[in-house]
Amino acid sequence: MTPETKKQVILMKGLGVSPGIAIGRTYELERGAVEAAHVCYLDPNETDKEIERFKNALKESRDQLARIKKKMEEDRRGKEHIRIIDAHVMILKDAMLINDTVKVIREQKVNAEWALKTVLKDIMEYFAKMDDAYLKERSTDIEHIVNRVLINLTGKRHESITDLKSPSIVVAHDITPADTAQMDKALVIAFLTDVGGRTSHTAITARALEIPAVVGLENVTRKAENGDTIIVDGATGTVIINPSDSVIEVYRKRKTRFEDYDRALFHLKDMPCETVDGRRVLLMGNMEISEEIDSLTEHGAEGIGLYRTEFLYLNRTALPTEEEQLKAYRLVAKKMYPRPVVIRTLDIGGDKILAGDAQGEINPAMGLRAIRFCLKNADIFRVQLRAILRASVAGRVKVMFPMISGVEELRQAKFMLEEVKAELKKEGKAFDADIAVGAMIEVPSAAVIADLIVKEVDFISIGTNDLLQYSLAIDRVNEHVAYLYEPFHPAALRLIKSVIEAANNAGVSVSVCGEMAGEPEYALILVGFGVGLLSMNAASVLKVKRLIRSVSYADAKKICKGIIGFATAADVENFINSKMPSLYREEFFS
Ligand code: PEP
Ligand code: MG
Repeated sequence: MTPETKKQVILMKGLGVSPGIAIGRTYELERGAVEAAHVCYLDPNETDKEIERFKNALKESRDQLARIKKKMEEDRRGKEHIRIIDAHVMILKDAMLINDTVKVIREQKVNAEWALKTVLKDIMEYFAKMDDAYLKERSTDIEHIVNRVLINLTGKRHESITDLKSPSIVVAHDITPADTAQMDKALVIAFLTDVGGRTSHTAITARALEIPAVVGLENVTRKAENGDTIIVDGATGTVIINPSDSVIEVYRKRKTRFEDYDRALFHLKDMPCETVDGRRVLLMGNMEISEEIDSLTEHGAEGIGLYRTEFLYLNRTALPTEEEQLKAYRLVAKKMYPRPVVIRTLDIGGDKILAGDAQGEINPAMGLRAIRFCLKNADIFRVQLRAILRASVAGRVKVMFPMISGVEELRQAKFMLEEVKAELKKEGKAFDADIAVGAMIEVPSAAVIADLIVKEVDFISIGTNDLLQYSLAIDRVNEHVAYLYEPFHPAALRLIKSVIEAANNAGVSVSVCGEMAGEPEYALILVGFGVGLLSMNAASVLKVKRLIRSVSYADAKKICKGIIGFATAADVENFINSKMPSLYREEFFS
């Protein structure tokens, strides 16, 4: 390619996990030291030196982690993040990792990089065979730490986030919490990764730091080169590498509009969320880690509609104790009081297994996930139920079970809750005996029998992320089928509508806490279908409030009546798009 040759424009679509638009130059982090490690045979007299080189790299890795931890503590990063570093330090001390690597160097007379890669492979295979999904997840930590040691071994500093000199878009195979600890928001203007789902740590930290991010791009590290210009749209997941000047101009304008729009929305913070004809809709927040509470309240969230507790369990070597969980849940309950907090029990597995993990199940999304995992691992479940119940006296706590597929499963979960209540009562521990119990409706079987489920619970919440995944048969983290992930799909709309009607007919509260709730055009439909509570990320709360305050409930219902007969998602989308502009009343921003 001659210097004059224009670079090819590449359009990529990933999971937009943190909204915002960024236009900048690519800064590529290492492509994966594990992949890059090659074998090199040693002379017998070289092995001792090689072992020493390996031990030096271990020491360097330990020192780096100590520095990162110190910085995290200074920056007051959350305990969850610090715990991940502690877990990595522990792995660095692991006898199997160290001794086996030394053994491979000595016996096979190979370089330390190759020996470590060989040992990692064995460890990953060992983890993959485990039945325990939680333990299986720990293999990600090992992979991250081995990667760090390999980087230190090769002496190649690989580009590090701290090396950034000018504002850039960071492109990496994966971004670890240790990386994010070193991120300077002024320099990392966006980030893109090959792997990761919407709920990966990368996604969570991106949202917490309000850095636009797109994950799950699969091969962005191969497509983008250092210095390439990239456009990132963190809301839609659109990434354009080497865009033309005219496209850059379009996105510059869009970026200004996005920022102006975001600022203007704060006027709505203390205004009631109701339609022009007086229908009140509650807007609550989804949260993963306690650091998100402030941002949610600043955006006017009226409670926590979904607390994804699994983040307390991820990236650590030991399960969170009852006391630790109690502390975490109590904090949220107290901070939000008198607003309610819906604590969802552990939803481990499926898309919560971070990319790069050894996945033991062939199809983890349909495997031993969420309530299935908890019912099978009763000890883990009971500890969490005890903590939730004990925290319930600190505020308005409700408990919700994820991935319920039928009444029997729900009854088993409720039975365990009752058993735990009896246990606590016997011990004289305080809890809310009438704690509200809810079920997530996110499996099609549960949606179809929603009329039966609502008879067993105090509330339901529709998890549209999974409901769409399972009903449309689309893996929500697989970008190859992402184009089929259509919330406007007539089947999805009919299913959601039927669930809402079942709950409303029974007089049981129904909310939506999937990503659909946070997008105005979908929220419009959900409200029109009769939902009175939407739960979403902080950045969406005011956007949705703006829409709701701009429409009449009567119009929303009319629109919903109109779309239900449409044959395709495109028909629905066109119809909604044709209605949206006329529904907004711009005077809110004057
Ligand atoms: C959902 O499935 O819509 C949901 C809210 O839960 P999660 O995204 O955590 O699976
Ligand atoms: Mg779900």
